[in-house]
Parts: sequence; C-alpha cells; structure tokens
Amino acid sequence: PVTHEDILRWLQRSTQVLHENSAYLTQLDSAIGDADHGSNMDRGFTAVSAKLASLSNADIGALLKTVGTTLVSTVGGASGPLYGTAFLRAGMASAGKQSLETPDVIALFDAALEGVKTRGKAQAGEKTMLDALIPAIEAGKQAASDQLPPAQVLQRMAVAAETGMKSTIDMVATKGRASYLGERSAGHQDPGATSCWLILQAFSDILA
Ligand code: ADP
Ligand code: MG
Ligand code: MG
Repeated sequence: PVTHEDILRWLQRSTQVLHENSAYLTQLDSAIGDADHGSNMDRGFTAVSAKLASLSNADIGALLKTVGTTLVSTVGGASGPLYGTAFLRAGMASAGKQSLETPDVIALFDAALEGVKTRGKAQAGEKTMLDALIPAIEAGKQAASDQLPPAQVLQRMAVAAETGMKSTIDMVATKGRASYLGERSAGHQDPGATSCWLILQAFSDILA
C-alpha cells in the first residue's frame, strides 16, 4: 500500500520538481498566458513543504486537505483554486486513512478530478491540466482492473499524463487565459498539463 510516509515523500518530491521546473513552466506560460505558472506552483508547494513537518501525525486525508488549503491561499491565478480544490477533494476521499490500496488511490484521483471539473467548468480537449489528468485516471483505472499494485498504477498514470500533456500542443485553448489567443494558442504545450504531469511523475518516482 501507499503509506502516510509515501504521501509526505510525494509532496516533498513535488516541491523539489516544481522548483527545478519553475523557469520551464513559466516559459510555457509566457507563450500562451502571463508567464507566472512556474512561480505560482513553486510558491505554493514551497509553502506546502514548510507545513509538512507539523503534519507528520496527520492522517492522509488531513494531510491532503492542508495541502489544498495552502495551495488555495498561496498559488493564486486560475491554477491555485483548481489545484487547491483537487487536493481538498483528494483529502476528503482519503479522510481518516493511514495507508492507501489501489482502489483508494483511484478514488483519491477521481475525487480530485471531479473537483477540478466542478471548479473550472472545463472538459477534455480544452487545453488544460485536465488533458493530463483525465487520461492518467483512465490509465489508472485500467491498471486497477488488472489488479496492479499502486506503484505500477502510478507508473502507468504518469506515462498517460505525459502523453496527454503532449497532446495539448495541437489543441486550441477554450478555457483559461490561453483561450484569449484563440487559434494562436495551438502549437504550444499547456503549462498546467505540464505541472500535472510533473506531480504525477513525482508520485510514480517515489513509489518506484
Ligand atoms: P493564470 O492563468 O491565472 O495565470 P496559472 O498560469 O498558474 O494561472 O495556470 C494556468 C493553467 O491553469 C493553464 O495552463 C491550465 O492548465 C489551467 N487552467 C486554466 N483554466 C482552467 C480551467 N477552467 N480548468 C482546468 N484548468 C484550467
Ligand atoms: Mg499564468
Ligand atoms: Mg496569472
């Protein structure tokens, strides 16, 4: 199973990876947005990371809920409320749990996805973080039905997220700032789909 300690390591790895990729994410956002996605995510996860030490006794649900509230209050922009809601919902789905089996992992991500969809009113194909998250969860569900353990489920989810992220290059944005560019948004990879892939890849990496 995925332990409480694994979740802490996932959050730490995400903080590190988002920090290392801050300039890259901001560069992607400079092409179709306002050049702040990297600094937004870096600031948010740095704040999360600062809280982790005080959360070593919290269950996974409480831990993820704190991540959500911290992201809402520090990231700003479109992505802050969206990632914040995703982690809040993931926390609600794992309330009271000290470890997660594959079905719990799927339930956690399904809840996160529903949160992002409800909050952002976007669907697949609109050139957003959903274009990494939706295919990742589909791949996760397939892996779960094949009875794979969480590490392999996450590995498949990360691969599907990366493919989904790349699929945003050809898409025309119809949600978020990038939609202001209309057809000119095509030809650029979506920054939020990229951060979503990084976060899922971080999860896969710490379980591997
Ligand atoms: P802002 O656009 O306010 O500057 P960020 O740059 O931090 O915020 O985040 C931009 C990312 O947010 C986009 O690349 C996209 O993936 C995501 N995004 C924007 N609007 C939505 C939405 N309605 N639903 C899902 N994701 C969205
Ligand atoms: Mg931006
Ligand atoms: Mg902004």
